[in-house]
Amino acid sequence: MSGPGQYLSDATEGITRPEDLPAAKIVQRSRQYKYQPCPRCGERCLRVRRFTRILHDVGDLVASRPRDIHLVYSQHRCANCRKYFNADMSDYALPKAHYTHRVVSLAVRLVVEDGLPYQAASWHLWRDHRVFVPYATIQNWVEAGGKKGGQPNGRRLPRLGLG
Ligand SMILES: [Zn+2]
Repeated sequence: MSGPGQYLSDATEGITRPEDLPAAKIVQRSRQYKYQPCPRCGERCLRVRRFTRILHDVGDLVASRPRDIHLVYSQHRCANCRKYFNADMSDYALPKAHYTHRVVSLAVRLVVEDGLPYQAASWHLWRDHRVFVPYATIQNWVEAGGKKGGQPNGRRLPRLGLG
């Protein structure tokens, strides 16, 4: 019998090593510019080099695979300020982060709004969104959010149709 409600277990259930999970689909993105304005003084600054940064994004549910963004970005040098700066990538992720904003906000919501324990949130992100986030990383995000100003909403949101 098969039908919309048929139970199929997740093929990856029980896998404990990330390297055993299906390979990520690579998505190329670019934040490369020849010139960028200096964020301090506004001077037009030439590109001096390029870097690539890998960001884990929400996965590809159709292919059932994780998705990594390979983001190539330019670094510029301001002759006035004598400082280096990178092309703006803040719409993708925080500086030095390994995950996109989408992943971080999904994870934090699972814990803060839905009340999932960190390990359950980690499994949920993998099973339903195909992104592997160690539970300790989720814990760091939630605790960092708490320090910055607490939960946006002091109480847990009611779940629609439940309870
Ligand atoms: Zn400058």
